[in-house]
Amino acid sequence: MVYDFCVIGGGIVGFSTAMKLGELQPGARILLLEKEAGPGMHQTGHNSGVIHAGIYYEPGSLKARLCREGLDSTRAFCRNHGIAYDQCGKLIVATDEVELRRIEALYERAIANGLSLERMDGRELARREPNITGVAALFSPETAIVDYVAVCRKMAMLVQQAGTDIRYGCMVDRIEERGDRVDIGAGEEVFQASRLIVCGGLQADRLARMAGLEIDFHIVPFRGEYFQLPRAKSGIVKHLIYPAPDPSLPFLGIHLTRMIDGSVTVGPNAVIGFSREGYQKFSFSLRDTLDFAGFPGFWKLIGKYRSHAVKELHSSLSRSAYLRECRKYCPSLAIDDLQPYRAGIRAQVVNARGEVVHDFLFRQTARMLHVCNAPSPAATSALPIGAMIAAKCLEH
Ligand SMILES: Cc1cc2nc3c(=O)[nH]c(=O)nc-3n(C[C@H](O)[C@H](O)[C@H](O)COP(=O)(O)OP(=O)(O)OC[C@H]3O[C@@H](n4cnc5c(N)ncnc54)[C@H](O)[C@@H]3O)c2cc1C
Repeated sequence: MVYDFCVIGGGIVGFSTAMKLGELQPGARILLLEKEAGPGMHQTGHNSGVIHAGIYYEPGSLKARLCREGLDSTRAFCRNHGIAYDQCGKLIVATDEVELRRIEALYERAIANGLSLERMDGRELARREPNITGVAALFSPETAIVDYVAVCRKMAMLVQQAGTDIRYGCMVDRIEERGDRVDIGAGEEVFQASRLIVCGGLQADRLARMAGLEIDFHIVPFRGEYFQLPRAKSGIVKHLIYPAPDPSLPFLGIHLTRMIDGSVTVGPNAVIGFSREGYQKFSFSLRDTLDFAGFPGFWKLIGKYRSHAVKELHSSLSRSAYLRECRKYCPSLAIDDLQPYRAGIRAQVVNARGEVVHDFLFRQTARMLHVCNAPSPAATSALPIGAMIAAKCLEH
């Protein structure tokens, strides 16, 4: 049988795409291939669980637009399907004059992105969050938290009910685009589809090369290491607490995140990962390491961010250094409060010039669409990303 659509990747972006394809073309024969035993086992299952409101992103970028749309559609999806989410709001805290200027710039950007944020001084911050110290803060009332694995599982259930064939434990190892179809191989099996959509997360560049695309970028894995506060300290904050991000750096900084199960996590940092899918502290894959080590763009990136990379590595190896980062805005935290928690690994596209590609990135051929870069907030934005991909595939 030739499927109308085949989706590779059972993370939140792959499932959202399969769901939207089924909605836009009822009756379409859809196949979803996932190499793991269930949905959402990589980035979708190892993140902070934040439904972002769209504060940080370059106005006019896809990220900015799809994050705003994703905020609304993710909350609506949760309401419609009985998935718990909590609109607890988020504070971005400035602890000195430099950070004050950063949050002022962030405020302007948020306004340009259509958000309404509340500014507050240090006294008001202390009134709202007695355990947090700062000279000023921005409050985003729309930011929320959710369990993205629960969202992804629900999507998987809905697409299966709508007739999509889902094959878990099916690792795609060959892709061949032909005139009238795409052949997709996984071990002994070969599947055929009129159109292929690839949502491979940490493996996106390999799947693109496997399919014959000429790309000049690589996925660089960035580990994000977290700790969890002891249950007795779960009441330490009422909102999500983020530091004022350094605009020259690609990630948001170590934050205190209330999780939907009532716990509070601290993290994530951002250190180079020596294994794309190895979550243990010293996981190592020769293939994955040689992959970025042989890519000149990686060394250009390291050259630009050398001092920051060393600082992050230090915070990864030393809990006290990690703690120092959090104590800037939450001084009552103690070393024993940092209890072990799982890490996540970000799939981050880096180009040949050594630049981190911030925006979502897609590559399309006659019969294929590859999602090459879907970094944070792609969990928030998964529904509009899926809708956009489905519309592109149908108009093509
Ligand atoms: C530490 C961290 C914190 C984050 N925090 C947030 C947050 O708070 N809010 C937010 O919105 N976003 C956050 N993100 C980003 C978000 O988690 C990701 O952008 C999103 O999950 C990407 O989804 P995906 O489906 O593209 O990728 P994934 O969830 O990684 O799914 C890709 C899937 O493709 C499968 N696959 C790969 N190769 C093959 C193959 N050859 N054959 C078959 N299957 C294959 C994989 O097994 C995997 O299941 C965070 C990410 C990380 C790592």
